[in-house]
Amino acid sequence: MQDFLDDQTDLHSQNQFVDEFSGGIKLWIKREDLLHPEVSGNKFRKLKYNLLKAREERYDTLLTFGGAFSNHIAATAAAGLKSGFKTIGVIRGDEIPEMPKSRWSPTLKFAESCGMEFHFLSREEYRQRDTKELKEKLHNIFDEFYLVPEGGTNALAIQGCEEILTEADDNFDFICSSVGTGGTLAGLINSLKFGQKCLGFPALKTDYLKDEICKFVNRSEWDLIQNYHFGGYAKINSELVNFMNGFSGEYGIQLDPVYTGKLVFGIFDLIKKGYFPNNSNILAIHTGGLQGIQGMNEFLKKKKLPQIEII
Ligand SMILES: *Cc1c(COP(=O)(O)O)cnc(C)c1O
Repeated sequence: MQDFLDDQTDLHSQNQFVDEFSGGIKLWIKREDLLHPEVSGNKFRKLKYNLLKAREERYDTLLTFGGAFSNHIAATAAAGLKSGFKTIGVIRGDEIPEMPKSRWSPTLKFAESCGMEFHFLSREEYRQRDTKELKEKLHNIFDEFYLVPEGGTNALAIQGCEEILTEADDNFDFICSSVGTGGTLAGLINSLKFGQKCLGFPALKTDYLKDEICKFVNRSEWDLIQNYHFGGYAKINSELVNFMNGFSGEYGIQLDPVYTGKLVFGIFDLIKKGYFPNNSNILAIHTGGLQGIQGMNEFLKKKKLPQIEII
């Protein structure tokens, strides 16, 4: 991970052709999930300039926030370990420390194996995460730290996400990405070329996302496609699982259940419904998140639902 921070040469991922659909519509997937085995996809992009700044300002500890299944928690723990930072994860759910460790989520077990120290908060306390009071409390407990916000989105994260698209992507008409906090989409929007349009597929039900994204972008060639969240964040049903399994079986690309599964489901559905003009070239960003499959499969098994096949 040393080169994660020190190597300033640009890192690019490959575009993999998926399929051609009727009307000459073609779909590719940008394999950001393959950037790094543990700090995958957009979390790599979002952490890069934050870690450089933390190092420059001589912090030795990173502190961040997330839920028990958070890709961002896993990525921060791994990135911290590999670039010489101590990491503290402020985790939503004060019932977790009461549970035997064997029942902890795979994400928390992984983060702990990277040396992350946890601080658990009740859901109510966690909601105060952006307040001065909670930050002061955390500074009293942990002293100095470089704070990375929940989901990792800040101006430096968006700067990192502006490096996802390169000149090799200039000929795509549509750039599609999953949306959580919107930081990744903002970076993509800022790096669009003339004639390109960005489509964001929120993985959750919200009405504030558009305003959040507008804070970080200065162009208008983008839209949010709001009807593929499957009922909310980390909500899933057998239709989505069956789609993901069919997709990985046919194209050899693993999708994650929280973000990219919903994104690609949405793109296929829009193609079927005639949303894209004939001969459109579409690029979907595979933002990673595959570490979440194991935890989701444990949940699906409990609910006696079909599980996500791991290819
Ligand atoms: C975190 C995450 C997202 C959402 O990114 P934002 O910048 O918060 O919108 C999308 N896909 C995957 C796989 C993620 O882990």
